[in-house]
Amino acid sequence: MRALQWNGQTLSLDSSYPTPKPTVDIALVRVRLAGICSTDLQIFKGYMGFRGVPGHEFVGEVIEGPSAFAGKRVVGEINFACGRCEFCKRGLGRHCPARRVMGILGADGCFAEYVAVPAQNLHLVPDSVADEEAVFTEPLAAAFEILEQVEIDFTHEVIIFGDGKIGLLCAQVLVLTGARLTLVGKHPSKLALVKKLGVRTVLLSDWQSKQADVVVEATGSTSGLEMALKAVRPRGTLVLKSTLAENHSLSLAPLVINEVTVVGSRCGVFPPALQALAQKKIAVTPMIEKVYPLSKGLEAVAHAGRGGARKVLLRS
Ligand SMILES: [Zn+2]
Ligand SMILES: [Zn+2]
Repeated sequence: MRALQWNGQTLSLDSSYPTPKPTVDIALVRVRLAGICSTDLQIFKGYMGFRGVPGHEFVGEVIEGPSAFAGKRVVGEINFACGRCEFCKRGLGRHCPARRVMGILGADGCFAEYVAVPAQNLHLVPDSVADEEAVFTEPLAAAFEILEQVEIDFTHEVIIFGDGKIGLLCAQVLVLTGARLTLVGKHPSKLALVKKLGVRTVLLSDWQSKQADVVVEATGSTSGLEMALKAVRPRGTLVLKSTLAENHSLSLAPLVINEVTVVGSRCGVFPPALQALAQKKIAVTPMIEKVYPLSKGLEAVAHAGRGGARKVLLRS
């Protein structure tokens, strides 16, 4: 099959990559659309030391696998858990120490014609959700994860730093809580995407430091992290969404002095995201920058890496 392949040094397009083999528990999914995200770009800088087919955001159709999914349109959760350990028994397969993660850790991903996904990770896509929406399920689930971890309602003041893909999704999810929400970013065109939803938007160059109950850091930069830290009010909560591959140093004293709760936040479960897409509560398609065929995958990755790019998709 055709696949993008990362060997730790270079990304290449391989036209004879071995097609994965389905088993009783593992479905073979034909990828229809895949999304390139910042994590993929971090992987190409060495994050996780991954080798193989990258990519973890997809919508596809099941070619071979359990009958409940045969021929159906699906999305898939990306953490492939062992199902037996203490974390798995508590329903926390996303934290299974033996997990493999699609396109990130020990499992080939979806920048390919086909991807192998454990059947227990699959979710059917409602008919009312288009491929171009469903491909956002994974990052949208990561945005909904914040609400699994932190209680946010209309009494709260919330600031999100970063108008990248994850920041825009977090803004759309958190505005549903009724919280007073501000998104701080660098790109007027991106800020405009959520401004009409009732989110207060501020250009970074106009930002005047103030404090909020909950601050979400989604800039992917050390400077953004520093700014976010300053914006949490005493006894407030700092939610960290960026996985920074490079090392950085930061004084943690303000966290102690202000008794700040720090919440690391990664992947979420899919049902709330799929439901929100089906109910048209979240508008994801305006976030699409360009769709490339898989055969132009290298060009697509280069495009996704340009500063300020919105979501770049690959069509298999
Ligand atoms: Zn992602
Ligand atoms: Zn486990």
